[in-house]
Amino acid sequence: MELHLYKKKRNFNQTPEPEGKVVSSKSKLSFVVQRHYASHLHYDFRLELDGVLKSWAVPKGPSLNPNDKRLALMVEDHPYDYKNFEGIIPEGNYGAGIVEIWDNGYFSDIDNSEKSVAEKKLMAGLNAGNLKFILDGKKLKGEFVLVKLKGRKENTWLLIKHKDKFAVTKSYNSEEYTSKNSTINKRLHADQKTKNA
Ligand code: MN
Repeated sequence: MELHLYKKKRNFNQTPEPEGKVVSSKSKLSFVVQRHYASHLHYDFRLELDGVLKSWAVPKGPSLNPNDKRLALMVEDHPYDYKNFEGIIPEGNYGAGIVEIWDNGYFSDIDNSEKSVAEKKLMAGLNAGNLKFILDGKKLKGEFVLVKLKGRKENTWLLIKHKDKFAVTKSYNSEEYTSKNSTINKRLHADQKTKNA
């Protein structure tokens, strides 16, 4: 049932995105950050919980600088298999554009509990609107929090890095940590040329 909204928004005869089932990984919880060039460029931050990927659209991308409070808009749960998805969503489909994986890895609760305990603590945090976790990715590492803003629209959260040995003090722009050869960067470059022509 959790994926009802995800499925409703998509036509799987037309999009290469996974139809997906509710499943879960064996020993560690997974996370993924996808860079998505749709009507505008943004990032999608996803944490595996309860057999699905809890998902937030992060317009500016994540930051390793604890001074940054990055707006994170909660969106529909995505299937677990979405963590491996990269590709082109054709014109006319929901989220049409290019998706590429910017970072991925594992995550845990703040006490590094074993998976079943961690998942319970994380779900409690999610429901309380104060979700603390530790990321073990290639780019994103250490403690983070997702805080739900009170009195705002139901889906408005902030993604903030906690101070630890992985935090940085200089300004952090996730766009600077993308490969020049990425499909999105090639498209951005081509679109810029068209604009300037
Ligand atoms: Mn997106």
